[in-house]
Amino acid sequence: MNSSFSGQVALVTGAAGGIGRASAMAFAAAGLKVAVVDCQRDGGEITVRMIREAGGEASFFACDVTSDTEVKQLTEQVLAAYGAIDYAHNNAGIEREKGRVGDSGEEVYDALMDVNVKGVWLCMKHQLEVMLAQGSGAIVNTASVAGLRGVRKMGIYSAGKHAVVGLTKSAAIEYAKKGIRINAVCPAVIETPMLEQMIKIDPLVAERSAAMHPIGRLGRADEVANAVLFLCSDGASFITGQALAVDGGLSAS
Ligand code: NAD
Repeated sequence: MNSSFSGQVALVTGAAGGIGRASAMAFAAAGLKVAVVDCQRDGGEITVRMIREAGGEASFFACDVTSDTEVKQLTEQVLAAYGAIDYAHNNAGIEREKGRVGDSGEEVYDALMDVNVKGVWLCMKHQLEVMLAQGSGAIVNTASVAGLRGVRKMGIYSAGKHAVVGLTKSAAIEYAKKGIRINAVCPAVIETPMLEQMIKIDPLVAERSAAMHPIGRLGRADEVANAVLFLCSDGASFITGQALAVDGGLSAS
C-alpha cells in the first residue's frame, strides 16, 4: 500500500483485541514497528505475539488513555524504544449504556466521555508534540457512525463519538501546514469483543445490525484496519479532516 511505510513506527491504542488488534497487525504486515497500547496487558501481549509469529515487530505498552501522566509516559516510552511516532491510531473506546438518554447515570456519562473523548484528546495532544518536532505524521481516530448520526439507546456514546469527529476536524485544520494529517474512521457494527458486550444487553443486536447495513452483513475488524492504513498512506496525501464511514453503506441510506 505504501512503500515508505517500511521501517516506520505506528502506535495503536485499544490494541488488545478487536479493531485495534487488526490495525496493529495490518501496520506490522506493512513493515512498520508497532507500539501495541492497551490497559489490558493479557490481550495486548497476545497481539504482540500474533505480530511476532507473523514475522513483524511489536512491543506492548500498558497505558490507561484517560490519564495525562500515563499517556505522557507512554509517548516517551515509545520514542525511547523506537525513536519516532510516524502514525497513531487512537482507537481505545468503551460502550456502557443500557437505555435511552434519560436512563443512564452520571457514572456512565463520565466513563464514556473519559475514555472515548478525553482519551483520544490526550493521545493526540502528546502525539502532536512529537509529530510537530518530526515535521510529519498522520493520526487516525476511531469515531463511529454513531459520531455522524443519532443512535437509539447509545446517546452518550454517540455524543462522545461526535466529539471525536469535532476534535479530528479541528486539529486537522490547525496542523495541516505542519505536515500532519488527521482523519477519523467511522465504523458501523463490527464483529469485535465490544459487539459481544452489546449482545449481552440485546441478544438480537447482531442480527438487526446486519440487516440494517445495506451491504447485508456485519463488518470485520480487518476492513476497518484497511481504511486506517489507507488514511495513513501516501495514497491519502491530500486527505485530512475527514470522517470516513466504514459502514457497509449505512450512512448513505
Ligand atoms: P474492543 O472492546 O475489542 O476494543 C476496545 C479496546 O480499548 C479494548 O482492548 C480495551 O481494553 C481498550 N480500552 C478501553 N478503555 C481503555 C483505556 N482507558 N485505556 C486504554 N485502553 C482502553 O472493541 P472494538 O469494537 O474493537 O472497539 C474499538 C473502537 O472502535 C472503539 O473506539 C469503539 O468505540 C469503536 N467502534 C466499534 C464498533 C463496533 O461495532 N465494534 C463500531 C464503531 C466504533
